[in-house]
Amino acid sequence: MNDIIDSHCHLDFEDFSSDRNAVIERARSKGIKQIVIPGVKCDNWHFIREICDNDPQLHACYGLHPYLAGEHTDDDITQLKHWLDNNDCVAVGECGLDYRKNQADKNLQLKFFNAQLDIAHTIDKPVVIHSVGATEDVINSIRHYPGMRGMIHSYSGSYEQAKKLIDLGFYISFGGAITYDNARKLRATASDIPLGSILLETDAPDQPDADHFNQRNEPAYLTNVLKCLSELRDEPIEEIAAQTTRNAQELFGI
Ligand SMILES: [Zn+2]
Repeated sequence: MNDIIDSHCHLDFEDFSSDRNAVIERARSKGIKQIVIPGVKCDNWHFIREICDNDPQLHACYGLHPYLAGEHTDDDITQLKHWLDNNDCVAVGECGLDYRKNQADKNLQLKFFNAQLDIAHTIDKPVVIHSVGATEDVINSIRHYPGMRGMIHSYSGSYEQAKKLIDLGFYISFGGAITYDNARKLRATASDIPLGSILLETDAPDQPDADHFNQRNEPAYLTNVLKCLSELRDEPIEEIAAQTTRNAQELFGI
């Protein structure tokens, strides 16, 4: 069994309220010992801190998700700065832009995204970015911060955009979406970009792999993403597990 890191999993969500410990145990039994938990709104930060304080293999990020841009306020940005001054984290986020599934106004999303890039730059932390249908705007925003590092979670852009992001110092993270046969472009990108720039994630409870279609996703299923990536790239599972683990450790300092 290979140790791998789930670089993006919403363990704090209510979907796990009845069996969170069992979910973590199942993940550990499959070799997923370390899990990075992104923050999506102010109200959840306390609970993420509580979960991570109790388990040194769980790692906190704090941020404001673009889906909720209509609910976030300017005061939330002030609170985020204050929170990050007083609490340890491995990255700022989940922040970003979503022009496909999101009702919130583009300019409003950009305002919160850029504010969080600014904070990450100031405190010298990586960023966890959600980018759907918005990769060009994401690239434009991060170009303003030379030396900034981070991950594009559940990557859905093109191969050319992935190359630009890698050149800017970003990791490309893949989850259950690559396990679907019809995701041809995405699967080609996952097989063609350098392994040194790839992270693995589940985005649980969302984005289950093809074997768990329409079910609640959980971090134990990360082994399916690993197996799929190994088949797509025709590289040994052990090699992908070891390198993606090193990548996550390097980015998050874990
Ligand atoms: Zn997420």
